[in-house]
Amino acid sequence: MRHIAIIGSGPAGYYTAEACQKQFGSDVAIDMIDRLPVPYGLIRFGVAPDHQSIKAVSRRYEQVALSENVRFVGNVSVGDQVTIPELLALYDAVILATGAPVDRPLGIPGDDLPGVVGSAAFVGWYNGHPDFAELDPPLDVSAAAVIGNGNVALDVTRILAKAPAEFVGSDIVAHAFDALGNSAIKQVTVVGRRGPHQIQMTPKELGELGHLQRAVPHVDTADLPPEADDAALEPGERKSVSHLRSFVSLAQDKDVAIDFDFFARPVAIEGDGKAERLIVERTRPIGEGMVEGTGETYAIPAGLIIACIGYRTPPIPGVPYDERAGRFANTEGRVPVDSGNLYAVGWARRGPTGTIGTNRPDGYMIAETIAADHPASAGKDGGAGLDALLATRGADKVSFADWQRIEAAESARARDGAPREKFVVVADMLAARDE
Ligand code: NAP
Repeated sequence: MRHIAIIGSGPAGYYTAEACQKQFGSDVAIDMIDRLPVPYGLIRFGVAPDHQSIKAVSRRYEQVALSENVRFVGNVSVGDQVTIPELLALYDAVILATGAPVDRPLGIPGDDLPGVVGSAAFVGWYNGHPDFAELDPPLDVSAAAVIGNGNVALDVTRILAKAPAEFVGSDIVAHAFDALGNSAIKQVTVVGRRGPHQIQMTPKELGELGHLQRAVPHVDTADLPPEADDAALEPGERKSVSHLRSFVSLAQDKDVAIDFDFFARPVAIEGDGKAERLIVERTRPIGEGMVEGTGETYAIPAGLIIACIGYRTPPIPGVPYDERAGRFANTEGRVPVDSGNLYAVGWARRGPTGTIGTNRPDGYMIAETIAADHPASAGKDGGAGLDALLATRGADKVSFADWQRIEAAESARARDGAPREKFVVVADMLAARDE
């Protein structure tokens, strides 16, 4: 029997488990180890709560999880309760599928002021991640700034701008639903350091902003390149830019204004003991999608500043790390360690880009690589060895059946019309399991 450990139970983890099942048939036992007692990583904690159709992919992962040769080993922290060298000794292959759940730092003066948060924290807060349940972002301010022109910036802007009625059917957690319902924010400025042709926003998600109950987007005509230049864009990009063009003329007749501010590079955050304004430098295009600073600066009033500028993979002791890229050092998924059986997939391998489905070919590639590197099982102890080790460390493992009990409890306590009310504290998840 070949023993494989996958660390992380998000999309990259489950696609890799599925690929290993296909690659090795019944000759494989897979342990999916997660720090939290609940599976699905980015699907549960990253995908926006009002995008339930995207979250539905977890049903496919559930099929994998319920297979006989796959085990969920939740509530176990790798690098802490069990080390990477220990796992490498127990399993034929160890696959890091830990994603990129940590904010890239903004790195400008004032970015440590209260009121400045990263998107991992803010998204984690409204999605009920135990690490961020206590974030309590200031929503009693009149203006917010969202830095970045990617899909996460769009998610964050939309969640800030939506009326409570627009969360029907979502699984936004109660603390965020209540706080956002009482929000005083009337202005959200979406700040991009480059121009409309350089946005990373997909058309469907951008189009949604034009149909919100109490908020309306606005783009300044002066920021838009000549329409003829759109012909050079990919079809999806052209569609997104056409949404931006349509935002120019929307009647500004709703409670909340969403202002796109392009060619604005954040240089500082100022305020008296807390964020009050974002200082940006005006940039100008210099060709090939590049910009340069003009030296002109101005202030965007904002008591809440959310940096949606990308993520990093947290390092794990004993694992080679690429500091510059913010992910594990690897060559096509092989992480260089002496034992030769450590791999990385998904965002932990290639950085935080692409859709959820992009992780599927990643998983298949790694399964093939493992088959090539280790044509036969080395007869290691696998899960039995892990269980023995964890027993000596007082670990309180959570199985997939345990998770199903937690899930049932979350469904049972859901608001009307909502699929679930998540537990946001690990102890409450474990209590639901034990009931
Ligand atoms: P992203 O698409 O890489 O966007 C990051 C944005 O931050 C870019 O606009 C970038 O500008 C900007 N940025 C980076 N550093 C900056 C700085 N120092 N100052 C100002 N701006 C800065 O990343 P993301 O939005 O975090 O999304 C991550 C991945 O998840 C993407 O592949 C995204 O499509 C995906 N996602 C998909 C969905 C969906 O499909 N519904 C939802 C959420 C996320 P430059 O371009 O100038 O570098």
